[in-house]
Amino acid sequence: MAPHQNSDDPCDLFVIGGGINGCGIARDAAGRGLSVLLAEKGDLAGATSSASTKLFHGGLRYLEYFEFRLVREALIERETLLRAMPHISWPMRFVLPYHRDMRFESETPTSRLLSAVMPWMKGRRPAWLIRLGLFLYDHLGGRKILPATSTLRLGGTPEGAPLQERFETAYEYSDCWVEDSRLVVLNARDAEARGATILTRSEVVSAEVRDGLWSVTVAQGGERRTYRARMLVNAAGPWVGDVIHGKLRLNSRENVRLVRGSHIVTRRLYAHDKCYFFQGTDGRITFAIPYETDFTLIGTTDAEHDDPARKPVCTEAERDYLCAFASQYFKRPVTPDDVVWTYSGVRPLYDDGATSATAATRDYTLKVDRSAGAPVLNVFGGKITTYRRLAEAALEKIGGALPLSSGAWTAGVPLPGGDFAHDGAPALAVALRRDYPFLTEVWARRLVRAYGTEARELLGSAREAADLGRDFGATLTEAEVVWLIQREWAQTAEDVLWRRSKLGLRLTDAQARALDDWMAEHRARSARAAE
Ligand SMILES: Cc1cc2nc3c(=O)[nH]c(=O)nc-3n(C[C@H](O)[C@H](O)[C@H](O)COP(=O)(O)OP(=O)(O)OC[C@H]3O[C@@H](n4cnc5c(N)ncnc54)[C@H](O)[C@@H]3O)c2cc1C
Repeated sequence: MAPHQNSDDPCDLFVIGGGINGCGIARDAAGRGLSVLLAEKGDLAGATSSASTKLFHGGLRYLEYFEFRLVREALIERETLLRAMPHISWPMRFVLPYHRDMRFESETPTSRLLSAVMPWMKGRRPAWLIRLGLFLYDHLGGRKILPATSTLRLGGTPEGAPLQERFETAYEYSDCWVEDSRLVVLNARDAEARGATILTRSEVVSAEVRDGLWSVTVAQGGERRTYRARMLVNAAGPWVGDVIHGKLRLNSRENVRLVRGSHIVTRRLYAHDKCYFFQGTDGRITFAIPYETDFTLIGTTDAEHDDPARKPVCTEAERDYLCAFASQYFKRPVTPDDVVWTYSGVRPLYDDGATSATAATRDYTLKVDRSAGAPVLNVFGGKITTYRRLAEAALEKIGGALPLSSGAWTAGVPLPGGDFAHDGAPALAVALRRDYPFLTEVWARRLVRAYGTEARELLGSAREAADLGRDFGATLTEAEVVWLIQREWAQTAEDVLWRRSKLGLRLTDAQARALDDWMAEHRARSARAAE
């Protein structure tokens, strides 16, 4: 993890931004023989890519916007990704309760069409349309692993139990879960294993073209270093416009539209392991998802967010909106007192001129700009689900400027720790407990869901829990923290507790502070040893 040692040698590709798109492109490019350097100003996945709803999904609601290309690509991609990362992603069933008062967002093309041909519906979303949408959802994407849609009579079922009695019928369909911030880190690790250099806490402050090469100035700690590169990738997410106009000083008309989305996390609201897809009377949709065993995740909102420098937070109004939304469905109302955590992120959408935030396209747009004398690829929009396809499309554009040693390669190549069967995680956890009998079931499951087959390497020759060093609480040990520091660029307790894991939900403030102190001391010790 040493910084690019000889900053005089130009690299082929300099990637700005360590979110999912930057790390996905860095991995793909390194695997095609390019020398790659990636700079992330904060922690990997420190911005939008740790604040998503965490679904590999086709996006059922995008069908109403006729976004067939995006939905089809995302649906097909779900199973490709499940196979490549069976530790951090898994199938989930979504229960969509039906009620005749459900309404469209009035701006969708489907809603406008229906209002024209069936004006008596008055904006209501009919059951046959939902079934048609789910039929398309089942058939557009070539499912092999994921089960098909079914209809559910809710009476007397675990799925119906927490819901208000007016919901008698539901449709059940498949999508997938993914640990978003771990996805980013595992892409960075694989990029590094293929020769890329990953710099975190390294902000690109300016870049200009000299003698046909980009000269990129990076602020790292108190220092500034300059790197040279043949091509830039601007994958700065919400800051994509800031990089274009502020750091590269390009005269470009392309723009990003920032749309904030917030989530609330409550104590677990129901006993089964399926998600709910709720349609509101305002035409929007939200999800309620089983989260980290003991919690329920509810989101999201859509709100304009004008300035990327303003840290997104879930406002009280957004929290109350999500509580009220879920309370339209659950028997027991969800109140702010149930909320144990909130988070918020900003979607860096391509500005397609849509009037509402909900309607703005979620598809990605890639633009190569050569106006400075050397190429830069600007990345707009995208989804976690389509990051691998976005990277392939980016490499096609990059291939126009730099020679690539091979074609597309990432489909079917597992991420670190993901080299096992798509449904093999439970068996892996059982085997881990057999060989490390001191692990509890919860602990083994957590390690497998984070590290997959690499959990064994992390545990090494430990015979008892004490062999893993200090216990920071909630099964987090010194051995794991050292792994995260040495292999996954973690530097602070926040990196460990909210991005490499979600143990922040379980540690007390005092435990979190103790971890932070220990990590600071570890960093200082390592720095002294390196001198
Ligand atoms: C609320 C919400 C829910 C979502 N849910 C889903 C979902 O369920 N499924 C799905 O598929 N997608 C979902 N998405 C979309 C998905 O999260 C985003 O499309 C994706 O994370 C964007 O990744 P990115 O790499 O472009 O941006 P980011 O993750 O924001 O990465 C950009 C990085 O660039 C860095 N950076 C910026 N400027 C500089 C600089 N000058 N120097 C160095 N580094 C810099 C930033 O620090 C940041 O880490 C959701 C998005 C939101 C907001």
